[in-house]
Amino acid sequence: MGATPIDLKKCAVHTRTNKPWSLRQCCEAYARRGIGGVSVWDDAYADIGSDEARRIIEGNGLGVPALVRGGFFTSLDKKERDQSLDHNRRLLDDAAVIGAEMLVLVVGATPGLSLSEARTQVSDGIAALLPHAETTGVKLAIEPLHPMYADNKSCINRITEARAVADGLDHPLLGLALDVYHIWWDPQLEEEIAEVGASSRIFGFHVCDWKLDTRDLLTDRGLMGDGVIDIRGIRSKVEAAGFSGWNEVEVFSERYWAMDQDAYLDLIIERLGTCT
Ligand code: ZN
Repeated sequence: MGATPIDLKKCAVHTRTNKPWSLRQCCEAYARRGIGGVSVWDDAYADIGSDEARRIIEGNGLGVPALVRGGFFTSLDKKERDQSLDHNRRLLDDAAVIGAEMLVLVVGATPGLSLSEARTQVSDGIAALLPHAETTGVKLAIEPLHPMYADNKSCINRITEARAVADGLDHPLLGLALDVYHIWWDPQLEEEIAEVGASSRIFGFHVCDWKLDTRDLLTDRGLMGDGVIDIRGIRSKVEAAGFSGWNEVEVFSERYWAMDQDAYLDLIIERLGTCT
């Protein structure tokens, strides 16, 4: 596969992509290869704490596009919704400590709650969280998830629903994280990306691929080039809409987790060449 040059300084890898590695192993390996950033999943620093995580990240000179992931605002139980808000506030504190630009929000969905009721709870939850985002200076990024997750992970499945919440609350710290895995199929993709860009609300861009022979909806994602998504085309649309930020590699894959992670990272870098 002919790889085109890509500015690795504008690329970041999600720690979950190299799940077998510790945060330190991830950061050292990314820095060694000239990758500019790491997006940190909360399990990557659960054992060591956010202060030590910051030292490791800074020591390797990496930027941090995102802390992943907050959200899960929906519940039939008010007490659970309040607990979720407290958890999100702690995540915002962690994000500030590790220097993350944004907290990614997987907004939640709850069996027994209609999707429209759930979206109202999401909007209310984000509204309640915004003051703490202001205090910490960390942005909030709603990530629309593919409708296959509408049962219990996300009542926001298209860019348009995410945009409705963001436009409704209209706050400079609230925007969207666009993941090609979740948005590639959207018939309104081009128009929606242009709309989000027009309000400067594209905060993040995640890359991976949709495999034809997907065996597991959560842990069998493809690496860029393994599947059917026109990643380069979508990237050009977000750039045309004014976004010039990170390409964040986010791949959950039992198959790739079983590989030697150094060899896998070499492959990731090669495939990043298909994104621009
Ligand atoms: Zn994502």
